[in-house]
Amino acid sequence: MDKNKTKNKLTPEQYRVMREKGTEAPFSGKLLHEKREGTFKCAACGNPLFSSGAKFDSGTGWPSFDQALPDAVEFKKDNDGGIERTEVVCAKCESHLGHVFDDGPKDTTGKRHCVNSVCLKFEEKK
Ligand SMILES: [Zn+2]
Repeated sequence: MDKNKTKNKLTPEQYRVMREKGTEAPFSGKLLHEKREGTFKCAACGNPLFSSGAKFDSGTGWPSFDQALPDAVEFKKDNDGGIERTEVVCAKCESHLGHVFDDGPKDTTGKRHCVNSVCLKFEEKK
């Protein structure tokens, strides 16, 4: 974790999720129902992570994306709690974002990037 690349100050909730791999409460995120056209960026460093076109309603209570922008995120094996999952982190500052699962939309990638809303900042397309 290179904290020097993290420009923006994190709220306690962002710190808990992005630095300590926490999870926000489902259906609590501000960006869950964001439907405008634009880009979802890393809340810590501003790295563009997901486009609005990749967002879909998974019904899980967390913002879900079928794919990330090219080279925007990295994947890590995560065995916390004895469950094998794949962690999604920001490729630039390595902040924890969420996890990726294989139950995404079958007509596109089949992947569901389940991302905590607090890890994201939305920038509307102008
Ligand atoms: Zn970042």
